[in-house]
Amino acid sequence: MATYKQPCLHCGEFVERDARLCPHCHSRSPFGYHCPTCLKPVNKDQAVCSGCARCLTVICPTCAAPTFADERCGECGSGLMVHCTNPRCGQLQFFDAQKCTACGKKIKHETGRG
Ligand SMILES: [Zn+2]
Ligand SMILES: [Zn+2]
Ligand SMILES: [Zn+2]
Ligand SMILES: [Zn+2]
Repeated sequence: MATYKQPCLHCGEFVERDARLCPHCHSRSPFGYHCPTCLKPVNKDQAVCSGCARCLTVICPTCAAPTFADERCGECGSGLMVHCTNPRCGQLQFFDAQKCTACGKKIKHETGRG
């Protein structure tokens, strides 16, 4: 019997096709990439999101290299997600998000005074 498994894009381990989360690397998008702002599925070769027009290339805050807006930096592997600053939410959000995609509250960034 064939089991419908597909390799995770991020770690290469086989994951159930309907999984929402890779059980190996905990990626929330094992089979594709999503825009971190509007969560629309995007391809890695897209320059901007077709849903919200955000730039899908970001500068990694850890190594300063341009990288695709994924959960991790493609260059140094550092996570690009931060927890929502709303204590009742705490969902993982993209590091440059202004607003949480889960609760809609503004995200406070510790870097940069004022
Ligand atoms: Zn994985
Ligand atoms: Zn988008
Ligand atoms: Zn990096
Ligand atoms: Zn939130």
